Amino acid sequence: MRTALVLALPAALLSLAASAADVKPPRRAPTLPDTIVDLTHPFDADTIYWPTAGRFELQSVAHGKTDKGYFYSAYRYSAAEHGGTHLDAPVHFAEGKKSVDELSLIQLTGHAVVIDVSAKVANNRDYLVSIDDVKQWERTNGPIADSFMIMFRTGYGKYYPDPVRYFGTDKKGDSAVALLHFPGIDPKLAEWLVKNKKIKAVGIDTPSIDYGQSSDFKTHRILLAENIPAFENIANMDQLPVKNSYIVALPMKIKKGSGAPLHIIAFVPH
Ligand SMILES: [Zn+2]
Repeated sequence: MRTALVLALPAALLSLAASAADVKPPRRAPTLPDTIVDLTHPFDADTIYWPTAGRFELQSVAHGKTDKGYFYSAYRYSAAEHGGTHLDAPVHFAEGKKSVDELSLIQLTGHAVVIDVSAKVANNRDYLVSIDDVKQWERTNGPIADSFMIMFRTGYGKYYPDPVRYFGTDKKGDSAVALLHFPGIDPKLAEWLVKNKKIKAVGIDTPSIDYGQSSDFKTHRILLAENIPAFENIANMDQLPVKNSYIVALPMKIKKGSGAPLHIIAFVPH
């Protein structure tokens, strides 16, 4: 696939550089993909954070004309790791597993499939994506190959950032956590994926891979323990085909981070 070629090129160049005496041009010039989809919500005062977490704050340090006559602007920002479109590093729920900076670029880039459960979620805010949903997808589209990412589309992305529709509540603090209602991944499916597939990562267009009513975060614990990271609060999932997209998910490289804001995009060929 052409998009894979584009992304494979830097590695090819690196290995060529390693043996400078034997430099050969790539066999084929890379071509640009037809479409690049931004799967990232912007960060601002409306960005969705867990009810107990600190929000995104942007403070102006300078804005306007300086005494030397040129324009200058700069801000400082602060936020919890886990909010908006972000990555959950394995160490978030699995002691000793990888932190944000330890995830390889190979793991954060790859082919993806989209499993759409939006029709089932429409009347059930607490829907859990099941083993059957994945098996049904495979019956229609063929088996999910090794080293793929699986993106789960619930359709909730369209409610973002309305906290009541997206999260189930606009309340804040500890007492709000019990009021959360949004779909997630069934822990039984997480177990099945770990046993039967070799996936690079999972993504979802809700605030968490565990559903809103979860209190034990089992899906997180199962997947992250296998060093499988998660992408949460994904945007524009409706613009991805069910297969044949190529995802590039680059978090802010926070050393020892348990998670980080994520700029995630997808290359989509015709
Ligand atoms: Zn998270």
